[in-house]
Amino acid sequence: MATFRLPVNGIDVVLRPPAGQDDVLLAEADRYEPGLAQALVEALARPADGSALDWAEVTLTDLDAALLAIRRMVLGDHISSSARCAPAEGFAAGPGCGAPIDLGFAIGDYLAQHRPKQPRGVARCDDPAWFALDGADVRFRLPTHRDLAAIAAVPDPERELARRCIRPPDADARVRRRIERAMEALAPNLYGTLEGVCPACGATVHIAFDPQRYVVEELRQRAAFVFEEVHLIAGLYRWSEATILAMPRTRRARYAELIHDARSRG
Ligand SMILES: [Zn+2]
Repeated sequence: MATFRLPVNGIDVVLRPPAGQDDVLLAEADRYEPGLAQALVEALARPADGSALDWAEVTLTDLDAALLAIRRMVLGDHISSSARCAPAEGFAAGPGCGAPIDLGFAIGDYLAQHRPKQPRGVARCDDPAWFALDGADVRFRLPTHRDLAAIAAVPDPERELARRCIRPPDADARVRRRIERAMEALAPNLYGTLEGVCPACGATVHIAFDPQRYVVEELRQRAAFVFEEVHLIAGLYRWSEATILAMPRTRRARYAELIHDARSRG
C-alpha cells in the first residue's frame, strides 16, 4: 500500500499492488489497449478518505500520474529506458551510429518536472472546476478523460472540446491560445519526449514516452504467467482458482517455481 496525491485535483489516493484478478485482467488482453490503463487505475487506486472517484472525470495528467505511482510501488522509482542511436523523425540529429543509449530516469523526478502550475492571469472560479482568464470574458475547465474519449469520436475534435470546456465556446483565436497554454500549465501532459546523448558519437536522440502504454506493457509482462501458475498450483494442490488468485503474486510465483523445480528433478 502507498498513498499518492493526484497532482491536478489534489485528491489523496491509496494504491494497492496488483493481485491475481488484476493480473488476469492484464493477461487476458491480447495486446495493449488504452482502456487497460483506466481499468487498472480504477482497480488499484481509491481516495484515501473513502469517497468514490469517477476516474473518467479526472484529467489525463492525474490518471497517468496515478499509473506511474502504481509502477513505482510495484517495480521501483527507476525507469530504465534505452534506445539505439538513430536520427529521430522530426528532430535534427546526427546520422545515427547504432550505439545503445541509456534514457533511464526516476519517476519522482519526472513527476516533479511536470508539476502543475497556475499561470499568471488565471484564477479559479467559485465552482472550483472552472477557471477565468484576466482581461477576457471567458471561463474554461480542464478536459477530463471522458471529454477526451468523446472528442476522439467526432469529426471536429477541437470544436467539440471547446463546446465542452470553454464558455463561451467561440472565443477568438488569441483567447483560445491563452486557454490552451493555461490548460497545459494546469494539467501538464505526461506523454513526453525523453532526450539522451549518444555516448559514442554525441548525437542527441529523442524517444516518445507514453506512461500508459509503458506501465501497462510492463505490468502485462509481469502478469504473463498467471494462467500457467494457476494451472500448476491447482493441478498439484487442488486449490480453487479463486484461492490461488487471492494470494499475493510473490507467493503464487513461489509455489509455481517449487512445482517446476520438483518436476525438473524428475
Ligand atoms: Zn551515436
